[in-house]
Amino acid sequence: MSSLSPLNADLHCHSVISDGTLTPEQLAERAKANGVHLWALTDHDELGGQQRAQAAASALKIDYLAGVEISVSWMGQTIHIVGLGIDAEHVGIIEGLRRTREGRGNRAKLMAEQLLKAGIPGAYEGALNFAGNHDLISRTHFARFLVEQGVCKDTEQVFKNYLVEDKPGYVPHMWATLDDAVAWIKAAGGVAVIAHPGRYKLNAMQMDELYKHFKDIGGLGIEVVTGSHSPHQYQIYGKIAQQYGFLASRGSDFHDPHESHIDLGNFPHLPDYLTPVWSVFH
Ligand code: AMP
Ligand code: MN
Ligand code: MN
Ligand code: MN
Repeated sequence: MSSLSPLNADLHCHSVISDGTLTPEQLAERAKANGVHLWALTDHDELGGQQRAQAAASALKIDYLAGVEISVSWMGQTIHIVGLGIDAEHVGIIEGLRRTREGRGNRAKLMAEQLLKAGIPGAYEGALNFAGNHDLISRTHFARFLVEQGVCKDTEQVFKNYLVEDKPGYVPHMWATLDDAVAWIKAAGGVAVIAHPGRYKLNAMQMDELYKHFKDIGGLGIEVVTGSHSPHQYQIYGKIAQQYGFLASRGSDFHDPHESHIDLGNFPHLPDYLTPVWSVFH
C-alpha cells in the first residue's frame, strides 16, 4: 500500500449497545460518508451489536472486523483491551464478557447512592434512561444524566468533577483480568490491542511491565492514533510500538456526534514507519 494513500481504517467506536448514542446502522452510514474503508465496532464488554454492524458494513461495501473493548483491572487501575477480528459467536468470549458486565448494575446503584449524598437524586433511573442496553450501564450514562440535570455543562466537566477517583459517584470496580481478556480474544481468533495507552495513570515502570506482560501472553497491538491521544502522544506511542514490536492501531473512539472530539474516520493516519494492525487481516 502506498504511503500516499493509506487505508482509512477506524477500529474503535461505540454504539447504543454500550455507551454510544448511534445505532450500529447509523455508525456504518457515518463511516461510509466519512470515507472509512475498514471499520470495527468495539462496544464495551458486549458483542450484541456485531451482527448488525457486520450486515450494515457489508450492505455499504465497507470492510469489517468484529470488535470489542474489554474492561480490565490491572495494578489497581482500569485499562481497556480492544479485540479485533474476533469470532463474535465464540462461546468463550461471550461467557467471559457476560461475567465482566455482571457487576455493572450494582455498581450503578452504589454510584447513585453517592451522588444522592452529594445532593443529586434520581441518578440511577436517570442514567438508565440514557442506556440503550440496561446490562451495560456505564459512567457515560451517568455523565449524560448530570449534563441533562444542569450539574455540569458537558461530559468533559463531569469526568473532572464527578465519577472519577476522589470525586462523588466514583465506585472502584474489579473488571476482567488482563490474562483472561487476552485469552478470550485469542481463543476467538482475534488480535488483542492495548487501547489508548496515554490515558492510564501508571508510571513508566508500570507501563513497561504492562507492555512486556501483554506481549508475553500474546498481545499484538497498541493504539497509536486515537481520539484519546494528542498529536504529541501519536509520536510517543508510535515510538513505543516500535520499541516493543507492537502492531499499531488507529481508532476514533467515537461515541456521539456532539460529545466526541473526532469523527469516525476523520482524523490523522498512522505514522508511516509503523506496521498497521490490519496487516494481519489483509
Ligand atoms: P465505565 O466502563 O462505566 O467505567 O465507563 C467508562 C467510559 O466513560 C469510557 O468508555 C468513556 O466513554 C467514558 N469516560 C471515561 N473517562 C472519560 C473522560 N475523561 N472524558 C470523557 N469520557 C470519559
Ligand atoms: Mn465509552
Ligand atoms: Mn476505552
Ligand atoms: Mn472506547
